[in-house]
Amino acid sequence: MPFSLKGKNAVLFDMDGVLYDSMPNHSVAWVQAMEHFGMQMTTHDVYLNEGATGHDTVSRISMRERGRAASAGEEHEIYSYKAGLFRSMPAARVMPGAREAIRKVSALGLQLLVVTGSGQKNLIEGVQRDFRGYIVRERMVTSFDVERGKPFPDPYLKGLEIAGVDASQAVVVENAPLGIRSAVAAGIDTVAVNTGPLEDSILMAEGPVLLLHSMTELSEWLDSCRL
Ligand code: CA
Repeated sequence: MPFSLKGKNAVLFDMDGVLYDSMPNHSVAWVQAMEHFGMQMTTHDVYLNEGATGHDTVSRISMRERGRAASAGEEHEIYSYKAGLFRSMPAARVMPGAREAIRKVSALGLQLLVVTGSGQKNLIEGVQRDFRGYIVRERMVTSFDVERGKPFPDPYLKGLEIAGVDASQAVVVENAPLGIRSAVAAGIDTVAVNTGPLEDSILMAEGPVLLLHSMTELSEWLDSCRL
């Protein structure tokens, strides 16, 4: 049986690389910020670490590049610098197909939530504007709402709690390996949408139930899921 939304009650969307085509900006900001602090981070590193909180990403790269963890002060300083660079860039566009997908999920009568590792306030506020009528702050889990970010299951478990459903009644839409790992660890069927440069095999290794390549493709798939 191909995977469908039968028996599902809620769809939890990741934000960066799913609702917004924001990863190219994040990538440039991370690479430049790390360089500013004397550490090398490649674009590939950015995509492999996508979904983790900024502080966890700083810590991981610091361990690799300097052989030591960053202090809490350094984590804050480096992430703030990166966030500042990101904010100075042109606003990321809504991912093509994302609005249609959100509209279709809503029309299917399913709950809509956003679960992101992001702490970029401009994007978090942007979601409420760009997806007005569908997503509100109370139904978003961000890096401000959980202690442990992706790839721990915590953000998605918090999403389930807000939706008031069991893992079996939910579906996650994710584009990043660590995001898929987080959702799968929470016991949720996860649709991977590979919108970036990573090999499909890297995403498939995390155990999604389905792999697509764009939000437009997701939107088309939703047409086949009319309950
Ligand atoms: Ca993402």
